[in-house]
Amino acid sequence: MTATSMRTDRAGDLRAGDVDRAVALCGWVAGRRDHGGVVFLDLRDAGGVVQVVVDPDAATGLDAHTIRAEYVLRVEGTVRHRPEGSTNPDLATGAVEVAARTVELLNRAEPPPIPIGERVEADEVLRLRYRYLDLRSERLQRNLRLRARVNHALRASLDEQGFVEVETPMLIASTPEGARDFVVPSRRHPGSFYALPQSPQLLKQLLMVGGIDRYYQIARCLRDEDLRADRQFEFMQLDAEMSFADGDDVMAVIGDAVRAAVVAATGREAPPIGRLTWQEARDRFGTDKPDLRVLLEIVDVHEVLAATAFRAFQAEAVRGLCVPGGAELGRGRLDALIERAKGLGAAGLVWMRVRDGAELDSPVARHLTDDERLGIIDAFGAQPGDLLLLVAGALGTVASVLGALRVEVAHPVDPPDLALAWLVDFPLFEGLDDDGHPIAAHHPFTAPHPADRDLLEHATGADLLAVRSRSYDLVLNGWEMGSGSVRIHDPDLQARVLAVLGIDESRARERFGFLLDAFGYGAPPHAGFAVGIDRLVAILAGEDNIREVIAFPKTQSGTDPLTGAPSGIDARQLRDLGLSVIRRT
Ligand code: ASP
Repeated sequence: MTATSMRTDRAGDLRAGDVDRAVALCGWVAGRRDHGGVVFLDLRDAGGVVQVVVDPDAATGLDAHTIRAEYVLRVEGTVRHRPEGSTNPDLATGAVEVAARTVELLNRAEPPPIPIGERVEADEVLRLRYRYLDLRSERLQRNLRLRARVNHALRASLDEQGFVEVETPMLIASTPEGARDFVVPSRRHPGSFYALPQSPQLLKQLLMVGGIDRYYQIARCLRDEDLRADRQFEFMQLDAEMSFADGDDVMAVIGDAVRAAVVAATGREAPPIGRLTWQEARDRFGTDKPDLRVLLEIVDVHEVLAATAFRAFQAEAVRGLCVPGGAELGRGRLDALIERAKGLGAAGLVWMRVRDGAELDSPVARHLTDDERLGIIDAFGAQPGDLLLLVAGALGTVASVLGALRVEVAHPVDPPDLALAWLVDFPLFEGLDDDGHPIAAHHPFTAPHPADRDLLEHATGADLLAVRSRSYDLVLNGWEMGSGSVRIHDPDLQARVLAVLGIDESRARERFGFLLDAFGYGAPPHAGFAVGIDRLVAILAGEDNIREVIAFPKTQSGTDPLTGAPSGIDARQLRDLGLSVIRRT
């Protein structure tokens, strides 16, 4: 399947079973070793690398000594076993080599400005500027191929489950996903702008009103947000929506698709996907995206210390972690943990080494009563040799600090396995805005939890923050893989939620009146989800940064050193668009 009119095989595909075959290969020179007479070339193509031996006595069409790195060659020759002692078990083709009969120069190459295949992080801008060279590295080749398999598996799974792939436009009106829009000025309507989609959210809901029943798309989404290791301006989502269905249906469909992607990427069976409520996740793991490969759980010791005389523990929350065997940690490491906890926002961190006879070795031990000491050891189920780490303070801070420490103090997971979980029953709102209105945690079309409808009707201000939603997230190894929800399809309920959010009718009409109109024409109950493909692929590829699984990513500051984006446009384009640029000084 990989043969063309120019080659019989891919270099990297050759194995011992190919010995004695006459082959024609095309590729780049990944390395060259001149051993006096004989020249050894590493020929690289999309399949990998194979060693080519060019014997000057053999008639070849080119002086092998003039060949340089990254020259493009076509080699004809015969596959043979490598001589005893020179096989390379680290290379897939390491048992064989190709004895060249002819070497044809297809193209010369400038000396590469970046080492191909070697990573020096400081080189990031340079590497992105020559991304096409970095793409030749084994790592990016492997990642992009893995990504293609993941996309294929996701598509195949949804196709099989009766979903219809529908493409939605890139030039749309703003969508309410909560980030800044990228906008595109309209030439035909000067002063008006399109927004690039933050997601196809409203359009997929319209597709449900339109009777498509089950929609999906591998959709490009754009959000003008600060970039991080798991965030680029543009990202791909497996976006899906289904009618006459609820959250369980969506979780089943998406769970199947993601598990198929895991199999396609890793060749291993995907683990089952557990389920946790948001509250449980906050209590046990201190975060709504817990890394469930880490077994440590947060323990609440507030009750044990309810009457404590020790001031530092007289707080809204006192919780902690028990690190098995952690009593061995030295003072240096413990001081570093205290600094880390402070950096995360805690007032401090209390450590306690558990000793034989239920003794606690801790700077605060003398402030605690015997009952308190025993109560703490008991609450953690701690054994001699364990280390306890306690944080006291406001509940939210205590949870988030311990949530972060929990992962940092755990032993690295080896081999890295996959822990998938659904998080359900999120709050409908996350905090209040400056006007005292709650802020939608997901988006304004997410249905409230049926048990909290009354609360939604009658509560005001901060009391509204207790309303739960019918939304759900998928979490993988501590990363949020995506989110979704059951949507509101009842116009009255939608009007109520918008009112609570402080979006008055005229603003609602202006922003998404078309959706509200559509809901007046028989919207089916519907629910959906979007999976972040870049993150999923990064984790499956074992990468920490999604840049490593994107062909042409942007730098941390949002530039593209390769094409020069973003760049100015000329005066005529500006005039056509009715724009003038105000330079900020
Ligand atoms: N549109 C949402 C998002 O991009 C996902 C969804 O609710 O389907 O996060």
